[in-house]
Amino acid sequence: MIIAIDGPAGSGKSSTAKAVAAELGFRHLDSGALYRAITWAALEADLPVEEWMQLDARTLDSLDVRSIPAPYRFDVAVRGRIVGDEIRSPEVNAHVSRMAAIPAVREWLLGALREAGRSGQLVADGRDIGTVVFPDADLKLFLVCAPEERARRRLREQGITDDPADEVRREAARLQGRDEIDSGRAVAPLLPASDAVVIDTTELTFREQVDSIVELARSAGA
Ligand code: C5P
Repeated sequence: MIIAIDGPAGSGKSSTAKAVAAELGFRHLDSGALYRAITWAALEADLPVEEWMQLDARTLDSLDVRSIPAPYRFDVAVRGRIVGDEIRSPEVNAHVSRMAAIPAVREWLLGALREAGRSGQLVADGRDIGTVVFPDADLKLFLVCAPEERARRRLREQGITDDPADEVRREAARLQGRDEIDSGRAVAPLLPASDAVVIDTTELTFREQVDSIVELARSAGA
């Protein structure tokens, strides 16, 4: 069984997908982590951003980004080292959507993402999981959430709890900037699959989001 969870930046897809997978005993695949790892590896390798459009499979191979199956998840390794928070830096945030809009990059990752689905029992999250990567997924969810609430959640994750309005506005603008590039690109744009269940999480607690998806998954046979 494959469960696809897509949605805009900061809609809580990855944490929700991880918790849903844990509850069902499935494996979680965070596809955004792979786009982030390629972006981080390209920045580390000093590949000029203006030349990214020309990236080909051989150069992508040389960045050596891999998805490694682990219990209940996939680790992401760059040059044999498992990466962590470095792929979530402001610099990666600012560049990742540009990298993800490049057709050769998406093509290069598609095989790796589909490979992850081979053993089944997967909860995968991203932007095009239900539309392109696993169009035959057993259950597709599309999470949406008001930009300011997404920004507040992001800031809370970073330990910023006192919610200054300016900071929320700035973070909301950064998230929406990424959404615009992700929705506007020619290949695999961010968009709900026609058979996706759309869940607005703005007024939901994290527990409610997870419970509602687990319930849908159980009804679908998980
Ligand atoms: O999910 P996350 O915010 O970590 O994803 C980072 C970026 O990776 C997104 O803004 C998007 O540009 C790209 N991405 C994508 N397709 C996916 C997953 C992520 O284009 N399936």
